[in-house]
Amino acid sequence: MSGQEFFQAGERVGVLTTQPLDRLLDYRAPEGGCFLGAYVEVPLGPRKVLGVVWGPGAGDFDSAKLRAVIRVLDVAPMRTEMRQFLGKAADYTLTPMPAMLRLATRAPGLSDPPSMRKILRRGEGVPDRMTEARTRVLDVLEEYGGLAFTPKELADMADVTPSVVKGLVKQGALREEEAPRDTPYPHLDPELPSKQLTEDQAKAAAVLAEGVHSKRYGTTLLKGVTGSGKTEVYLEAVAAALRAGRQALVLLPEIALTAEFLTRVEARFGAKPAEWHSGATMTERRRVWKMVGQGAAQLVIGARSALFLPFRDLGLIIVDEEHDTSYKQEDGVLYNARDMAVLRAAMCSAQVVLASATPSLETWANAEAGKYNRLDLTSRFGASVLPDMRAVDMRSEDLLPSTWISPTLKQAMKLRLERGEQSLLFLNRRGFAPVTICRACGAQVACDHCDARMVEHRFMKRLMCHQCGETKPVPEACPSCEVEGKMAPVGPGIERLAEEATSLFPEARIAVLSSDLFGSARALKSRIEEIAKGEADIILGTQLVAKGHNFPLLTLVGVIDADLGLQGSDLRAAERTFQLMRQVAGRAGRAERPGEALMQTFQPEHPVIRAILSGDEESFWKAEAAERQAAGVPPYGRMAGIILSGPDLAAVFDLGNAMARNDGPLRQIGAQLFGPAPAPIARVRGRHRVRLLVKAPKSVPLQEALARWTAPLHLKGDLRLSIDIDPQSF
Ligand code: ADP
Ligand code: ZN
Repeated sequence: MSGQEFFQAGERVGVLTTQPLDRLLDYRAPEGGCFLGAYVEVPLGPRKVLGVVWGPGAGDFDSAKLRAVIRVLDVAPMRTEMRQFLGKAADYTLTPMPAMLRLATRAPGLSDPPSMRKILRRGEGVPDRMTEARTRVLDVLEEYGGLAFTPKELADMADVTPSVVKGLVKQGALREEEAPRDTPYPHLDPELPSKQLTEDQAKAAAVLAEGVHSKRYGTTLLKGVTGSGKTEVYLEAVAAALRAGRQALVLLPEIALTAEFLTRVEARFGAKPAEWHSGATMTERRRVWKMVGQGAAQLVIGARSALFLPFRDLGLIIVDEEHDTSYKQEDGVLYNARDMAVLRAAMCSAQVVLASATPSLETWANAEAGKYNRLDLTSRFGASVLPDMRAVDMRSEDLLPSTWISPTLKQAMKLRLERGEQSLLFLNRRGFAPVTICRACGAQVACDHCDARMVEHRFMKRLMCHQCGETKPVPEACPSCEVEGKMAPVGPGIERLAEEATSLFPEARIAVLSSDLFGSARALKSRIEEIAKGEADIILGTQLVAKGHNFPLLTLVGVIDADLGLQGSDLRAAERTFQLMRQVAGRAGRAERPGEALMQTFQPEHPVIRAILSGDEESFWKAEAAERQAAGVPPYGRMAGIILSGPDLAAVFDLGNAMARNDGPLRQIGAQLFGPAPAPIARVRGRHRVRLLVKAPKSVPLQEALARWTAPLHLKGDLRLSIDIDPQSF
């Protein structure tokens, strides 16, 4: 650890803790001293808390009363680049440092001493007799070569009862050993043969590899339609990082996709990488955290919070599906993982690859401005082509009331059934019907705690609030006028569409893919695998199906309501609709069979619908960019949302009005203030939410002005304030 600052025992150090305090605390360095960046346990009042040695002590605290660091944890000290990254991320998102440190130490049991566990290896003994179960156990060990497993893992993998394993131990065919619980990950080998890349792909891979070898910061937009081989290409950039002895991180937006991805990594590099997401067990998370810090995890596949892992030498970050809105964390620390990836890479001289078929306008504009490099994969791999896209003009289609599948779409589905191919109907609405209305008085059922309608879910026979998850039975009588038997569903949800598809095609096998219908990511994954094998004729899906699943037999995509995303005043609506529709259409015709996409719309002449159909992306982006530029909004201006919330609406508005009256710091930088107005979601879990929007020119110190504006506020009672830099909707 040469060159790193070291504090001798007894020296005064400043420690950043995870406790909500606005300053570092002074302690005496422990016996044996400690490095700058050391993870430590310190006394705070009667408690012990986790902290990091952040620098020398400030010295303004009485030396005689100074307490000592309790102990230094047995993990590598936080690197300087990581401390800088947390500091900059805190400044950018206006997040207090303790909250940043909490993000970076989300490994349960971090401060536990390294514990031991029992593992099994092949022993010398010969079993008295071989049963089929015993053979399976020994085969598993054989298959995994030198690896060792706990008794439970081994029994699970061989699919035998624990007693079979115990029996083999007793007879000496298995030998018990003690091993540290946190074991390194198996080695990934970049020299294993890769797929034969096409010329286009090979060129892109070479450019990315060159970036990795430069050991400098750089960001590249890797743009290519679904199926063009973006994943194959960036896996070669990962190989380049591994060859250079540096670590790589791949961020994925959706947990359901992880398993498929792990298999691909294993096929390329011979072993599975480390995984980091909220579904991982405590033990697994602690293992990842520690191994990443030691450099013993070469590659991590993770959700957005993986950016805050203590990599020892991070050389490459891939953000797959970079436009995906789930990269924006919407509670606690409000950050966009795509932007934080770029910041992190700049701190540690790493390369970033932003991969997408439909990049965000922000990323497109950065590439246009020359801040990011851009690589395009223009054709799909193999013979497959993009589907033929057409609008179905709903004004001239003959539909019965309460039906949504047009005759044109129905005809196309019938053709697929006859050919033994699959159709996918896309409707981005969970549940049976978006609205339940009383036909006597017109009242709708609303959530008791939120400003949202309750959505009927027939599958679970209840109404559900999509804001807070609260459910209640479908009422017999109207809650407002008390007339019985008049509550009726209005509009289509995915479950209702399934009913319609069933009545049109009673013989067809129909599968509904909606996140609320699956208890676990695993259940969803196995259903998707079945469908990919052809175990469904008609697939109905919400947003979930837009993302990366590969259904070889799928040749028709029907978008039930292409206009859905274009309603409302959100300035990002056009971009979202464009991305979603192109992604969904991209599901059809991935393999040898050409596909067709039909978009049902009442406004086929709408510029966004026209752009979707023509596929002329560059013109779409240029037009969209011009509009945003004229409005002075991101990425051509800066925005921040301030959400105020509390149980009493008047008090929340009073605070908002007071803030609006005292907006001097904002005016000084030429920023405009809008509101207070009810937030896009005006009430959640009984708390009223009011929003102020700040719009500022691109080059002004917005964060600093926001800090000066909000710092003098004293939030009384149950009032809360959170600042959202670059809000998703504006
Ligand atoms: P994308 O990430 O752009 O959607 P993928 O990398 O997933 O594209 O590629 C789509 C499919 O085509 C995958 O099954 C992939 O294995 C296959 N593929 C892409 N390029 C090649 C290649 N050069 N050789 C063999 N298979 C390829
Ligand atoms: Zn609710």
